Amino acid sequence: MAETEHRPTNFVRQIIEKDLQNGVHQTITTRFPPEPNGYLHIGHAKSICLNFGLASDYQGQCNLRFDDTNPEKENIDFVNAIKNDVQWLGFQWSGDVHYSSDYFEKLYDYAMELVEKGLAYVDFSGQDAVREMRGTLTQPGTNSPYRDTSVEENREHFIAMREGKYQEGECSLRAKIDMASPFMCMRDPVLYRIKFAHHHQTADKWCIYPMYDFTHCISDALENITHSLCTLEFQDNRRLYDWVIENISAPATPRQYEFSRLNLEYTVLSKRKLIQLVDENFVSGWDDPRMPTIAGLKRRGYTPASIREFCLRIGVTKMDNLVEMGMLEACIRDDLNANAPRAMAVLDPVKIVIENYPQEQTETLKAPNHPNDESMGYRELPFGREVWIEADDFREEANKKFKRLVLGKEVRLRNAYVIKAERVEKDDAGNITCIFCTYDANTLGKDPEDGRKVKGVIHWVDCSHGIKADINLYDRLFSVPNPASAENFVDTINPDSLITVTGVVEPSLTNASVGDAFQFERTGYFCLDANSTPERLVFNRTVELRDTWKDR
Ligand code: ATP
Ligand code: MG
Repeated sequence: MAETEHRPTNFVRQIIEKDLQNGVHQTITTRFPPEPNGYLHIGHAKSICLNFGLASDYQGQCNLRFDDTNPEKENIDFVNAIKNDVQWLGFQWSGDVHYSSDYFEKLYDYAMELVEKGLAYVDFSGQDAVREMRGTLTQPGTNSPYRDTSVEENREHFIAMREGKYQEGECSLRAKIDMASPFMCMRDPVLYRIKFAHHHQTADKWCIYPMYDFTHCISDALENITHSLCTLEFQDNRRLYDWVIENISAPATPRQYEFSRLNLEYTVLSKRKLIQLVDENFVSGWDDPRMPTIAGLKRRGYTPASIREFCLRIGVTKMDNLVEMGMLEACIRDDLNANAPRAMAVLDPVKIVIENYPQEQTETLKAPNHPNDESMGYRELPFGREVWIEADDFREEANKKFKRLVLGKEVRLRNAYVIKAERVEKDDAGNITCIFCTYDANTLGKDPEDGRKVKGVIHWVDCSHGIKADINLYDRLFSVPNPASAENFVDTINPDSLITVTGVVEPSLTNASVGDAFQFERTGYFCLDANSTPERLVFNRTVELRDTWKDR
């Protein structure tokens, strides 16, 4: 798709341009720092497009760094999935992949430096006691009885922590800052805790793990990150970020800037909630096409370009917002409208028999793959005496607004002839089982010769060549715009978010590969699902042709 060429400016770009102009930095380095405890989602895509996009626009670098300090929740499968997703979105990190765990030894040394400066202490108060001592937003905290332990004793305790001499929860290393600070994160935050956990990168080497706030700023400094971009909830933590950098012999002085996270209507973007959807089988997995994960969007039929375009359109600000799902859908619609070949599929078939069409005859018609792009070529469409049309496209009686097939009236079969409905056959329950028609053999690619006007055009699939397919009609996963604000968000799941129908598709679709996208004429944009087999085609609806959600 033609991506917006012009990069709209934003406050981050303004900061960078100033820093480059004033010589604060010669070049910029950003990073994308996911924690490998889940799959990436569309919110992460915003951060990825921002960080990698800035590096590319200003000829800088962008690192991929796994923020892997919680071994119990992380694993190598998440690491691999995240790498895949970043590359699928069209980005490549500078050099090797980095891990915070690469720096465990250095982080330990910096922590020891704080201990030696009297700026960190080992606290043996239990976890509950530490929590009590923190105070509240309106009440200052209280000093721990371990706050004034001598440097020498703290050194020994911290070494013993590393050597596994203490139990989990028995003690932790805390920064000695200010228990009365208005910023909770400055009230002697924990820097290291004990965890006898196996780590996906460092195996069993460590039994103490550094906390995010201590790890992140030092990792940024070690990688020479110039602009460390994160979401607004870390605004207060910037004090701690700067405190750590100022109080250790840091090799560089990275700066943190915050922007507002993406919130998207009709979905949830919290990893905890996404994990719950997967674990409790509300969806089929991380790549369920209804999930807002990159893997889910890909399987749904979203293209990397459409996601990048979305991230450009939403922009980067410091304002909290809830973006309309319609905006994301518009991006994929724009892409597929221009780039997806057309095909015909009937989702709810009813048979028509063209009685004046010769028995046993079949002909091969030619249909353009795209109405406005001849370079996409043509495909062959077999046509015969019996074809499927959409049950919905026929009425026994209708007013003039109904531009489809009506008993006694004419309609055009797309890319084929004009037909007229003569009579219907019904089962005992009164359901139409077959519509008998006649056709005008002189209307292939041209209007009727006597000047009759035939306005309606409907899609169809030839009965003897059509292929049965499972068609997954996906819709928004939640039926309310802000499920996260519901008491229990899973109660707001849209019960109709997946309806599977058996339809019939034109035979050219047997050549499709997994992920190939099509506009099924008049019914929407679809792509071939990974579960598809040559024996049983499976298509996923990516998005409807128009935004009908507003009218519901
Ligand atoms: P969650 O809060 O759902 O667990 P997270 O922020 O902890 O997500 P990380 O893996 O730590 O997930 O995120 C990696 C990067 O992506 C961080 O820099 C984070 O700020 C950014 N990010 C995460 N969610 C969003 C979002 N909704 N919008 C923009 N950026 C996001
Ligand atoms: Mg995080």
